[in-house]
Amino acid sequence: MSLAKTGQPDRRLQPMATMPPVPIEDLDDMLSRLRLTAIRDQLDNLLEEAARKELNLREALTWLCAAEIARKDQRRIAMAMSIAKFPFVRTLEGFEYEAQPSLDPGQIRELATCRWVANGDTLLLLGPPGVGKTHLAVALGREAVSKGYTVQYVSAMELISTLARAHNQTALESRLSQYGKSKLLIIDELGYLPLEPDAAHLFFQLISRRYERGSVLITSNRPVMEWGEVFGDQVVATAILDRLLHHSHVLTVRGDSYRLREKRRSGLIRSSSAVSTIPATGEEGSP
Ligand code: ADP
Ligand code: MG
Repeated sequence: MSLAKTGQPDRRLQPMATMPPVPIEDLDDMLSRLRLTAIRDQLDNLLEEAARKELNLREALTWLCAAEIARKDQRRIAMAMSIAKFPFVRTLEGFEYEAQPSLDPGQIRELATCRWVANGDTLLLLGPPGVGKTHLAVALGREAVSKGYTVQYVSAMELISTLARAHNQTALESRLSQYGKSKLLIIDELGYLPLEPDAAHLFFQLISRRYERGSVLITSNRPVMEWGEVFGDQVVATAILDRLLHHSHVLTVRGDSYRLREKRRSGLIRSSSAVSTIPATGEEGSP
């Protein structure tokens, strides 16, 4: 390669006129080599469309590149969604705000911008069973994936038991770094079931590792002031919360179970909000 006066390699291409002729039958192979698979697979349609729209060469090339980028984005998102291991598909479009008057749609829209993920903030979704915490966690996780962030979903039980197993096998470090990798870690359903004795310490190590580096979204049926009980260790729970709440958004959903809506409608059971609401945490909203 010739060097220009600056000492940099000369990146100028060989002029087209001096290039040997290339048979057009080679185009498919060339597109494959360049991994331009969207252009390759839709070439006839794309060229016909470009001709129909009377695009000039530069416009047609721009359009072909856009088609390729759209396909690559789609694939990247599909791959990231499967890596995230969401338990099911839930979307913000599928969330009925009328069914959950305690939530502010504006606040959810703001969270859907994923600025909190970019900032490495924590999001706590608290409230009784069936009010849509997991739905929102998955929907916000999908928003984050589609905006290009890496996301990992795990239930609190699976997380703790995986860390506890790794701890016994002296593989804790690699597990912690695995859960430390993604930009957003969603830990679902903390507090439903009693945790293992080591849970508080293991959880603390994980949260410390992610602190001010990656976001954590936690859903729980227990208000934060009961987390000492959840973890079975008040001191460590306080240390965990100290880090989690430093840059945090706390949404407390106070409402009826969506799952039991039909039964309530038919008069089979009474409205739960009439009998119990989750106690206020004192940290609601962004500090
Ligand atoms: P939680 O995690 O709070 O226990 P889920 O998110 O699992 O509750 O919600 C239970 C079921 O009800 C899910 O299938 C969820 O999609 C649905 N659901 C809950 N709230 C709503 C809502 N406001 N709009 C639409 N579906 C909802
Ligand atoms: Mg849930």
